[in-house]
Amino acid sequence: MDLLPLFMAVKDRPVLVVGGGKAAARKAELASRAGAAVTVLAPEISGDMATLIAERKLSHVTHEVTREDLDGCVLAYGASDDEALNEKVHALAEACGVPVNIVDRPELCQFIMPAILDRDGVVVAVSSGGDAPLLTRMMKARFETLVPAAYGRLARFAGRWRDRVGKAIRDGDRRRRFWEEAFEGTVAELVFAGRDSEAEHAMQAQLEAAAKGTEGPPRGEVWLVGAGPGDPDLLTFRALRLMQQAEVVLYDRLIGDGIMNLVRRDAERIYVGKSPKNHTMAQEDISALLVRLASEGKRVLRLKGGDPFIFGRGGEEIEALAARGIPFQVVPGVTAANGCAAYAGIPLTHRDHAQACVFVTGHGQEDQAPDWQALIQPGQTIVVYMGLSALPELAAGYIAAGGDPNMPAAIVEKGTRPDQRVIAGTIADLPARQEAANLGQPSLIIIGTVVTLQGELAWFETAQG
Ligand code: SAH
Repeated sequence: MDLLPLFMAVKDRPVLVVGGGKAAARKAELASRAGAAVTVLAPEISGDMATLIAERKLSHVTHEVTREDLDGCVLAYGASDDEALNEKVHALAEACGVPVNIVDRPELCQFIMPAILDRDGVVVAVSSGGDAPLLTRMMKARFETLVPAAYGRLARFAGRWRDRVGKAIRDGDRRRRFWEEAFEGTVAELVFAGRDSEAEHAMQAQLEAAAKGTEGPPRGEVWLVGAGPGDPDLLTFRALRLMQQAEVVLYDRLIGDGIMNLVRRDAERIYVGKSPKNHTMAQEDISALLVRLASEGKRVLRLKGGDPFIFGRGGEEIEALAARGIPFQVVPGVTAANGCAAYAGIPLTHRDHAQACVFVTGHGQEDQAPDWQALIQPGQTIVVYMGLSALPELAAGYIAAGGDPNMPAAIVEKGTRPDQRVIAGTIADLPARQEAANLGQPSLIIIGTVVTLQGELAWFETAQG
């Protein structure tokens, strides 16, 4: 390590930025965001800099730089287009003992600016010592995916409790365990979800128990998480984080290996898969199992294909949890319709084709057929979930209700997965095409003229590899 990483207190202290262009504006903005009293020294300023000066009320001077400008500064930047001026800033700063940074001149820098990830005050700074700034920015992007956006909120929440916790729990080890539990458990999740007053209550209860030394077994909870249609890249950050914290996971047939591989390695895995005809575990039994595991203090992940609230029976599962006062969280996922549409090249709405889109189930309770009369509307795309096994009846019902037999329609099998297949035709001939192609589960049916847009890719193809 060639440079010493530091976070410097610059609040209300003078910082000089020489230069009026974009690079100077970036430095001035950063220093000002950290509270520094920034003076911009530049005879001419760009639009960016003018806006910044106005918004952040920075001082702006235009005279020749002299020693007095640097005297008393905590930091100085030379970010002018005029190299000679930058060198002069460097020399003056050195003479005054002020740490200086000259843009794009590593040999004239006494400090460098790291790539910064700022989560509301929780800051990660990355540096390669000036060797590979792009690499540090890429590393920063990786951190972006790991650190929940609300980390800063959690830090401020913790800041408000710090004194109280310090007074209530004197022993250092126990205090550390207390904070670990707060940062990894219910309290943190409530803060991330924006449920601040509940987080305050949970924290109060946890603190009272810890102070009395009566921490019970940890309180269990259930996370109902949408895992998307198959491609693991379509998981949300929150889904991934909870997948890595859970102690038990209940998963469906729709969850592929790619996603299961991302679940915490030592988590217990329980398969509760259902196929349309072959119910492995009844819905009531799944709900009862969730309740039992959470009551034992476990953090339970209920992983669902697509989105939990779209034909996912998520509503029924949380009713059971709510009825027994078990804390839960629902995390949305990319639903099959979105995933299949994007990966098959069929937009669900389009100015020239469809101004609305409905999601329906091909077999509802007691296998009712969809209400085609209501669904067939000009300019409306219809997406049918769980419709493949009843395709001939669905197509016949559509036409019998007055729907156009030549209406374009497609089936997307295993959407977003590496072995996705698509067949397209018209609603009238789709059953015959399916007979020939014999697509399997899971498959989604899309009906509407938007299907022809996939035609730019060959919409009459019978099957795609
Ligand atoms: N909650 C899920 C839907 C569950 S119902 C979601 O939001 O996507 C199960 C039905 O979803 C399947 O019968 C099929 O119609 C559809 N489906 C789910 N994943 C799919 C995929 N990868 N490709 C095509 N259809 C899919």
